Amino acid sequence: MRKLIIGGNWKMNLGSPADAKNMIKKLMILVKKISSVDIIVAPPFTVLESMVNMAKKSNIKIGAQNMYFEEKGAFTGEVSPTFLKSLGVEYVILGHSERRDIFKESDDLVNKKLKKAISMQLSPIVCIGEHLDERENGKTKEIIFNQIENTFKDLQKEDIIKSVIAYEPIWAIGTGKTATPEQAEEIHSYIRETLMKKYDKETADLVRIQYGGSIKPTNAEDLFKQKNIDGGLVGGASLQADSLFEIIKAADKISNN
Ligand code: PEP
Repeated sequence: MRKLIIGGNWKMNLGSPADAKNMIKKLMILVKKISSVDIIVAPPFTVLESMVNMAKKSNIKIGAQNMYFEEKGAFTGEVSPTFLKSLGVEYVILGHSERRDIFKESDDLVNKKLKKAISMQLSPIVCIGEHLDERENGKTKEIIFNQIENTFKDLQKEDIIKSVIAYEPIWAIGTGKTATPEQAEEIHSYIRETLMKKYDKETADLVRIQYGGSIKPTNAEDLFKQKNIDGGLVGGASLQADSLFEIIKAADKISNN
């Protein structure tokens, strides 16, 4: 049994201390009794320290939205994994499609970050997914296969099981267009099959694969019901405590069934 995991990716929102504190306070009260789901919140760097401190006695874990693969030096504007560790951050999102598309991050760069995160005991949430034209041209599985090959290059079994994979079809991110549960499950099961061929069945069965792309309270339960969908990475709907809680409750209901 894989424990479902819900991540809230705040992106470049709620980055001022007052807004972030207000949001996490509300969320901490709402999720107090949830124990069957792992809950991660990834705020902007500016409020990571206060979010870690506020969430310390709660069931919410804090993640960063990105990091660099070097620990220190002349890398203006980058954030070191050592800094994240020193704050008590536990998770890090890597290779989000916005990082890949807007900031031109390659599979090779994400692979370097992933290896570094694992070596520093930061739990990575690694995003993969296809563009709309790639889906329309029947290339989804090829894209996913190559992203797994290149992003997880040289990763051993014991490393891959420490990673969470987020399948996020790029055409569904922030667009209001969600993949149907069947469309998502088809690719989630393909990801698991690919991991099985690359590693073995036991390893593939242990890796948690989240879905991401316009998850809302109204579609969460049907997505999380799918055999290979182990929760979700939530953008827009994670900015309000109430809607993120509804999504967490959908996961909790499935876990307790
Ligand atoms: C995301 O940013 O990872 C995401 C899935 O965003 P949204 O839920 O807004 O589509």
